[in-house]
Amino acid sequence: AEMFGQLTTGLESAWNKLRGVDVLTKENISEPMRDIRRALLEADVSLPVVRRFVSSVSEKALGADTIRGVRPEQQLVKIVHDELVQLMGGEVSDLVFTKSGPTVILLAGLQGVGKTTVCAKLAFYLKKLGKSCMLVAADVYRPAAIDQLTILGKQVGVPVYSEGTEAKPPQITKNAMEEAKSKNIDAIVVDTAGRLQVSLLCIPFNFQPKVTAHGILIDKAMMDELKEVKKAVNPTEVLLVVDAMTGQEAAALVTTFNIEIGITGAILTKLDGDSRGGAALSVKEVSGRPIKFVGRGERLEDLELFYPDRMAQRVLG
Ligand code: GDP
Repeated sequence: AEMFGQLTTGLESAWNKLRGVDVLTKENISEPMRDIRRALLEADVSLPVVRRFVSSVSEKALGADTIRGVRPEQQLVKIVHDELVQLMGGEVSDLVFTKSGPTVILLAGLQGVGKTTVCAKLAFYLKKLGKSCMLVAADVYRPAAIDQLTILGKQVGVPVYSEGTEAKPPQITKNAMEEAKSKNIDAIVVDTAGRLQVSLLCIPFNFQPKVTAHGILIDKAMMDELKEVKKAVNPTEVLLVVDAMTGQEAAALVTTFNIEIGITGAILTKLDGDSRGGAALSVKEVSGRPIKFVGRGERLEDLELFYPDRMAQRVLG
């Protein structure tokens, strides 16, 4: 299914109810507004975001002047479009680079969301920008993660910094930064651990769960380690990698990571899957941080900057 397919259809039923009306009124927009609200909720947009969105759209719809030649339903479509663009941050947000010394891009996120893949994709993106780059293996809990990063680094043609599984991530990252500095490398991308998916069969002995509003379990030890890594290298970018399929919980996840470690943006992966799109619409509003990139597949080229206006167009079909 197309990501926003259901949402697009839901919104269409809102416009359809306005056919034949001359002007938008409190009475005739109430049904369409309910449709918009329902469509957004069904697309997994977070409830507070939906509430704010709908009230803002109603207000604009009622305050809008009638424009000659523009039908009321077209006017509402335009208002929803503009509001969607705003909701997603308005403008595109590209990577920020430091003026001197290596730019440190720290990636965080749950296990399995596509973080390691994003490392390689970002390296590929940086190369295209003409920037030299090094990947850093700071997920020391899964030897397979280091191997995977090494293979991906070879594929992209960028060095991978690793100290194996014995060293501590903050120290590894600090050493990697020194190495990048000495080699005049423009940017390092740090792959961190995401031990968050708790299997009932193998809860680590030191697991101290923290329950967020939506019931996501956050591994405190992992969060503390991320804070340590962040303190050690003062990254320019702290990007939270979020699986678009996360659904309603995406908002709680982004909020928690932002409060705990402070993020500069998010990367939404697996947009090629059959997610309903809610995360794309919630991230900016709940965290104040923009989505910077989206991943649409497993290949290196499948990472694109996030354009709020294009995304809004897709929502409207
Ligand atoms: P990590 O545990 O967060 O490092 O996740 P990985 O990078 O190992 O990715 C987990 C799985 O998701 C792998 O099979 C990837 O190929 C796949 N994957 C990552 N990004 C995408 C994406 O944008 N689209 C699709 N379809 N699969 C992806």
